[in-house]
Amino acid sequence: MATWDETELGDETCSNCGAVYSVTYKSLPLKDKDDFRCSCGQPMRSWKETGMYMYTLISEGE
Ligand SMILES: [Zn+2]
Repeated sequence: MATWDETELGDETCSNCGAVYSVTYKSLPLKDKDDFRCSCGQPMRSWKETGMYMYTLISEGE
């Protein structure tokens, strides 16, 4: 099973509701086009590159 590099990018806070996410970047062998929105609907990030961003909820917003 292949493993790909993962990089911790630290925390990001939603500017709309204040939810805090831990962000990890993961390299992929193929180009990924995706985006992530907070559970409140606020766009947090969009990307189109050979990697993806994974958001883990740490603290819920208001
Ligand atoms: Zn939010």
